[in-house]
Amino acid sequence: MSRMVPIVGGEVASDQLGRTLMHEHIFIRTPELQEAWPGFMGWDDDAAIASAHEKLKAIKASGVDTIVDMTAPGLGRQVGRVAKAVEGTGLNVIVVTGYYTYTDLPFPMRYNGKDKLFNNDPDDSFLVDLFVRDVEEGIEGTGIRAGVVKCCTDEPGVTPDIDRLIRAVAKAHLRTDAPIMTHTHAKSRRGLDQQRILKEEGVDLSRVLIGHSNETSDVGYLTEMMDAGSYLGFDRCGLMVDHPLQDQQDTLVELCKRGYAGQIVLSQDRHCYSDWFPEEGVRSMLPDWHHGFVQQSLIPGLLENGVTQDQVDQMFIKNPIDFFSAASA
Ligand SMILES: [Zn+2]
Repeated sequence: MSRMVPIVGGEVASDQLGRTLMHEHIFIRTPELQEAWPGFMGWDDDAAIASAHEKLKAIKASGVDTIVDMTAPGLGRQVGRVAKAVEGTGLNVIVVTGYYTYTDLPFPMRYNGKDKLFNNDPDDSFLVDLFVRDVEEGIEGTGIRAGVVKCCTDEPGVTPDIDRLIRAVAKAHLRTDAPIMTHTHAKSRRGLDQQRILKEEGVDLSRVLIGHSNETSDVGYLTEMMDAGSYLGFDRCGLMVDHPLQDQQDTLVELCKRGYAGQIVLSQDRHCYSDWFPEEGVRSMLPDWHHGFVQQSLIPGLLENGVTQDQVDQMFIKNPIDFFSAASA
C-alpha cells in the first residue's frame, strides 16, 4: 500500500518515488568551524547553493527521481539551505533525523539523558523527543519533515553513547513509524550489532536499512542481515575507501544470483558540496565517486555479468518504494 512520504517542499506518494538513490548528501558542513572561522575551506553559501542546485538538476536530468539526503545533525544538517538548492529541480529529496557520530554524543546530549548526571530518564525521552519532533512537526520550523531516522556504528563499535543512540532511534521509529537507515563499518560487521540492539528494542528488522554494506565481500555477513529481514545499502558505489570497486560489483552480482535483489538498494554517498574535502582533490583521487556512477558504470557492469534488468529495476525502483511504503501493523 502506498504511503505519503515527506519531501522538501511537500510530500509524494511512496509508489511515485521512481528511480531512487537511497543515500546521498547535498551539503556536508561543519557549522562549529564555519562559525569560528567564517569561510573555512572556502565555504561560500551562495556559491554552495548554486553549485548544488546545478548538480541536483543534472541528477534529475539523468533519470533519477528521488534522493535521500542522509545528512543528519552531526554532518551540518540545515534544511533551509537544502530547500534553496532543491527548489525548481523537480527532484524529490527526503531528509533525515537522528545523529551522526562514531563514538560520543555532544555534551548537552550526554548530560541530559539516560543514566546521566542531570537527567535520569529511563526512557531517554530527551533524545527521542528531538528526533520525533523532526518527523512529526518539521525541522528548524520550516515544516520540512524528516522521512527517516538515522544512526551510526563505525569501527569503534557500540560505545555507551552509540548504544544509547541506536535505542533512541528505535524508540523514535516506534513512535513515528518512520523507517530506520544506518551508517556502518562493514568490514567489522557492525550491522549485526545494530540489528541486535534494534531487535531488543522491538523493531521489525524489515523496517531497517543497513548502510554502506558494499564495503565488504563477506557474503555470509551480508546474507545473515538480509535473512533477518533488513535491506542493505550498496550505497557507497564508486567510492573506493578500502575495498576495490570490482570486488564490490562481484559481491553484488553474487547476491543477485542467490536471489537477494529484493533487499538491496543502490546509491553513491556523494555530496554536492562540502567543507570536508576540496572538490578538485576528490575528483583527482576518487574519479569514480560521482553522482552518475550507479547508472553509468555500476548498472552496465551488473547487466554484463548476468544480473537481469528486472533485478536492476528491483534495486533501483521497487525496493525503495517497498521500503517507504511499509507500515507497522
Ligand atoms: Zn553518507
